[in-house]
Amino acid sequence: MDHQGRRTRRGRFGVLVTAGAMMLLAACAAPVQQAEPPSTSFSPSAVASSAGDPVTVPGLSSPSSQTPTPSPSPEPEPVTSSPEPAPEPEPESTVVDAPEDDYTPAPVPDQPQPQEPVQTEDPAVQQPQPATGGGRIVVIDPGHNGANGANPGVINALVDAGFGQTKPCNTTGTSTNAGYTEHEFNWGVATKLQAILSARGYDVRMTRNSDDGVGPCVNKRAAFGNDANAAAVVSIHGDGDDAGAQGFYVMTAAQDPGGAAMAAQSGALAGAMRDALVNAGLSPSNHLGSGGLWKRDDLAGLNLSLRPTVMIEMGNMRNSSDAALMSSSGGQQQMAQGIADGVSAYLG
Ligand code: ZN
Repeated sequence: MDHQGRRTRRGRFGVLVTAGAMMLLAACAAPVQQAEPPSTSFSPSAVASSAGDPVTVPGLSSPSSQTPTPSPSPEPEPVTSSPEPAPEPEPESTVVDAPEDDYTPAPVPDQPQPQEPVQTEDPAVQQPQPATGGGRIVVIDPGHNGANGANPGVINALVDAGFGQTKPCNTTGTSTNAGYTEHEFNWGVATKLQAILSARGYDVRMTRNSDDGVGPCVNKRAAFGNDANAAAVVSIHGDGDDAGAQGFYVMTAAQDPGGAAMAAQSGALAGAMRDALVNAGLSPSNHLGSGGLWKRDDLAGLNLSLRPTVMIEMGNMRNSSDAALMSSSGGQQQMAQGIADGVSAYLG
């Protein structure tokens, strides 16, 4: 995500913004020149069918030339005391029945089989132990997608973003100064996270199945977690902020459409995630949010989610230190480990 636009409204929530400012906010990523979006031809299936056409899109994720404005220190967010998350029923065995009988998971190549029983080291104690995940559903949402930039007519179509807001279907995301793209970073962390959580026995589902497709739209990504009845939803992004900004922050909905109980769950997930990322050796942002946490009211993925959900900006791709870490496989593995530990800490 590129947050140039939101500087127009940093501060407390509920600030009345103009339509023009909303459009800036909607343009989460770099501006994209495009024709008018097609009025009738867009459909998710058409998007999916175009996913196999990798397209190089020069110039579409270049940073805005907007002069950064000094930002007031964000007001501190109350650190959510972490109530015990509502325990999910433990399965009787390691065989897991997905609660959604009509859910057809999209194909995920090379997905590890999640429910391997853990064998103890002692051959005298060969009782299979259930994996900690217990088959609970975790939705991973890797932000953006590789062919978004080549399909502005699709991704710039406005969709519901919750609470009367609209947003472009999707955006291109940001990149490092060296040109390493956010969508590739997000995908790298997401696939590593998928492997870790699957090995722990979670039923991991991804909102997109490759890094060379288009979309899905932000409202579809939120619906994915809702439809899966996910125990936790983790959306992964990298920020495109001022060069001096460094570190991660975990975002939750300022106004949770799932109500107070669900807001508390998302808050508990966010707190566990922040702590786990710190334990993994990552630093909370020195620029945005407070203590690695930030509540937002302008993000469709949060405004439309009815499940415990966090959206994480893993670092600032325009900061040299963060960019080096985010561009490396080792750095992405470190981040994935931290996220996985946050999920496990929340879900138990
Ligand atoms: Zn992003």
